[in-house]
Amino acid sequence: MTKLRPIQALHLANTLKKSTEWKIQVYEKSILSGTDDSFTSFCRTMKETEDIELRMISGLIEFIKSESKTSCKHPKKIQDTDPNGAVYCMKCGEDI
Ligand SMILES: [Zn+2]
Repeated sequence: MTKLRPIQALHLANTLKKSTEWKIQVYEKSILSGTDDSFTSFCRTMKETEDIELRMISGLIEFIKSESKTSCKHPKKIQDTDPNGAVYCMKCGEDI
């Protein structure tokens, strides 16, 4: 397996965040429209779990962003895009 670039890690984390937000919305809908039965209480528990997960993913996104800050000061004209769509500097090889 090839090494994950920060930009790819960020993309993955953002995808994970979107799917978690979507799950929370579905549970919220079920909680609001449901009668107070065991299914509603299941949805409440699941929503709480997803809320915690969403906070963890948000923390992860902040971490990736802080770690992937580039120190490259080379001009933009020597930047190139690799086959995965990630922009990098041709002089020092850093991801932009
Ligand atoms: Zn550079």
